[in-house]
Amino acid sequence: MEASSSEAPARCVEQIDRDRLARTLCELIELPSVNPFGGVPQDADQGEGRVAAYLHDRLVRLGWTSEIDEYAPGRFNTLARLPGTSGGRSLMLAGHMDTVETTGYPEALTGVVRDGKVYGRGACDMKAALACYLEVAEILAERSLRPAGDLLIAGVGDEEYRQEGAKALGASGPPADAVIIGEPTELTACLATKGLAAFELRVTGEATHSSVPQHGTNAILAAARLLGRLEEHQRTLDRRRHPLLGPPTMNVGVIEGGIKPNIVPSECRVQFSRRLLPGENPSDVRADVVADLEPGAWSLGEAWWTVAPYELPEGHWLAAALLKAAELSEAPDPSPRGFPASSDAAYFGSPVALFGPGSLAQAHSLDEWVSISDMVTATAVYLRTASLISG
Ligand SMILES: [Zn+2]
Repeated sequence: MEASSSEAPARCVEQIDRDRLARTLCELIELPSVNPFGGVPQDADQGEGRVAAYLHDRLVRLGWTSEIDEYAPGRFNTLARLPGTSGGRSLMLAGHMDTVETTGYPEALTGVVRDGKVYGRGACDMKAALACYLEVAEILAERSLRPAGDLLIAGVGDEEYRQEGAKALGASGPPADAVIIGEPTELTACLATKGLAAFELRVTGEATHSSVPQHGTNAILAAARLLGRLEEHQRTLDRRRHPLLGPPTMNVGVIEGGIKPNIVPSECRVQFSRRLLPGENPSDVRADVVADLEPGAWSLGEAWWTVAPYELPEGHWLAAALLKAAELSEAPDPSPRGFPASSDAAYFGSPVALFGPGSLAQAHSLDEWVSISDMVTATAVYLRTASLISG
């Protein structure tokens, strides 16, 4: 921080305002930003534009420079900057502005504060972190403090599908010397994230009248045998363990086939996903699966949906600073962890670690919440990390 007082971050932390954090989060929840999953936003609830404008307006009022980028029709990033005082290392606090859908979630877009928690769609994944970033900016403005290096806040689009926002932001080069993503990590410092590869297995048979099934080939039964093989394949993955992320996992998520009970089905389609460890890629993973399936009338397409895994280089100064900040802020477990879900981490082009309030157990659920105390701790960690890395 300016004036390089080592007490400055501690004094800032005392100033974190629980009520303002909760209020900001409620306002963010009430700005719908549902990911349209590939299309141009059609429904009134879709797209990140409202959240981008909110972040932009608040940060400009606090003296930051900020730009909104419509990187695709109806899809937005916002990137704001507080210039550092003396050219120290720069830090970007990044968070995705999109949420998953609200179908089946009553009053998803009403931010509710109850028993020390904030409820609503996006509460933990991950508008809570966006609210913490704004709290950092509020406190720095109130105290007229600036870190030695530039501090950036990025609101990013499309994390929940194809990470197009992060790809657009990273396309013009690394935005900062280091990036923290405030995904819901239960206040642990996550130094690696899994990726994702989704595949479709198409099994073909021969349709015939169900009274003479011996004259046809039942594609659904053939698919069922292959599913047994996939389950065995999954067990072999348990032997590949990443020190922070554990083994890769698989999920069979969709099965479709057949027309009527009295017709032997000629086709069955199965969609499954495979979580990737750092160093794995979708084509090798596909080849491994193919090698374990018995030959037959089936085809496995190339991965149609991928998210790259990510790992911070070992011994990186960002990890040291974040872990130190977590310890000073009395985070529950200041030891390095892995984030089992996928994220934007691989696409910014800068070194990345994840740290945020809330838990994946609540993310994407129909009762999403985050604890305000977690948000206070996360804000303290962001303030301290900014100070520790920039000098
Ligand atoms: Zn998320």
